Amino acid sequence: MNKVYDVGIIGGGVSGVLVALQLAELGIEHVLLEQKESVVNGPPFCHLHVGGNLYPDISDEQCRILMKQSIEMARLFPQSIDERPTLITVPKTENYQVDQIESRLNMLVEFYKKLIKEDPSNAILGAPNDYYKAYSLEDLEALSKLPSIKRPTSPDEWMTNAIKLIDYNQLKMPLFLVQEYGWNFFRLGAQAQLALNRTDKCTLQLNTEVENVKDVRNQDLGYNWELITKDKTYKVNYLVNSCGFSTGKFDECLHLDVERLIEFKAAYVSQWKPIPGLIPELVFHGKRGTQHGMGQLTPYRDDYYQIHGMTEDITLFDKGVVKAKANCAQPEFDEDIKRKLNYGWDDKEINDRTGKAIDYIAKFIPSFSSATVGGPPLYGAQQIPGSDLSLRVGEVSFPTQFYARSEIVKASSALTVANHIIDNMVEENIILSTPEIFNTNNLLDSISKNDIDKLAEKTVEQRGYPKALARLVIARE
Ligand SMILES: Cc1cc2nc3c(=O)[nH]c(=O)nc-3n(C[C@H](O)[C@H](O)[C@H](O)COP(=O)(O)OP(=O)(O)OC[C@H]3O[C@@H](n4cnc5c(N)ncnc54)[C@H](O)[C@@H]3O)c2cc1C
Repeated sequence: MNKVYDVGIIGGGVSGVLVALQLAELGIEHVLLEQKESVVNGPPFCHLHVGGNLYPDISDEQCRILMKQSIEMARLFPQSIDERPTLITVPKTENYQVDQIESRLNMLVEFYKKLIKEDPSNAILGAPNDYYKAYSLEDLEALSKLPSIKRPTSPDEWMTNAIKLIDYNQLKMPLFLVQEYGWNFFRLGAQAQLALNRTDKCTLQLNTEVENVKDVRNQDLGYNWELITKDKTYKVNYLVNSCGFSTGKFDECLHLDVERLIEFKAAYVSQWKPIPGLIPELVFHGKRGTQHGMGQLTPYRDDYYQIHGMTEDITLFDKGVVKAKANCAQPEFDEDIKRKLNYGWDDKEINDRTGKAIDYIAKFIPSFSSATVGGPPLYGAQQIPGSDLSLRVGEVSFPTQFYARSEIVKASSALTVANHIIDNMVEENIILSTPEIFNTNNLLDSISKNDIDKLAEKTVEQRGYPKALARLVIARE
């Protein structure tokens, strides 16, 4: 009889790897089955979403949760965090009120203070009173006359560089510079994969697609589930389904109905030579799905910039959101989206959509019209539990005994969800107990920056992106 694992995890995205890393820390033997050639290979993530500043429509409670979860993840994966601020603006054409944005930022300052009081190591965003700074028209006019700074360190220096590029007459005042950082998913994946390779508690099986799951809980076999792949059947006691937008496939195998949406989205890679100095991320708010959806320019290293435009011509897609049906827990995209997901994009599509993304940003940053296509888009599908498309804090559910279904919407929720799953394993007697505070990971801490640099670069190249995407804009030691 072959081996029985305490836990079997299907899917090595950020959610699955966090469960694996926490189990390894506890000394629990498990198998992690990932169909692709490396972990964290699903939809991209590039913002930490500390405080949810990109989403004016979500509740204050979701903003607080995102802040707490983002700080926890940033503490685990410091080598993937790009410490450059984000400029939040509202065009005059939009209904959003800047004073509402400011009152939310003030709420977040108070919440951040509370998090630091609970644990001083949470102060990863700097001093709470510097969490954001508001800039009036007079401030901007004064800053625009100053010379640009190669490597800005203060909010005013970042703003001095940014304001030279932006047509700020189109924007409501004030503008807000917020300590909302970038998040490099190639580097997070590299650190996680190196850490999992270092532990004998995790059997990491890459290039291994699970085709079926068999429930044998009532058959007295000494294990509960069979995870069936082309070559082998894995026997496990506890099943974690962390397949991202494909979790429904195994809900169907287990005859579980569920309400869920899945959404396909893309961000575009461009190259541009602006002023000789770093700029913050730039956000121009707008109503999602309209012709004025949010525009967002994210700086990478070596003059690469990523673009989001929340319109159907750019980041969103016609029929890009699909819903689960009764007896059909796995929603299906149309053939065009399935082709992109499975085989990538053709050059014409890349050029068309990246071109539209560049034009969109150039409305606010006129010199951005000189940007060119920098590589293939970063794209993928994510799941949203329930039916509310604006939900940003997904969670986890335990629809039946010894089965956890991860339902994260944003990567920042991965540690929280992993720890909930582990609590459930304790309730189910798979694990005896856990430490009271469980938000550190020695395995991750043992991985060097040099090794992360090397593996991140290799993965970026394997996936066909420019090498610069493997590095932080502001390197950390
Ligand atoms: C364009 C875009 C931008 C985004 N930007 C951000 C952002 O800035 N910040 C943020 O926090 N979040 C962002 N997100 C959301 C984020 O990408 C997701 O929340 C996150 O990746 C979900 O992680 P996951 O582990 O649940 O799923 P996934 O990352 O999808 O991982 C699931 C894994 O399961 C594997 N798998 C599936 N089926 C099988 C099978 N049968 N056998 C074996 N393996 C299988 C897949 O290959 C995959 O690796 C973005 C999403 C998109 C689409």
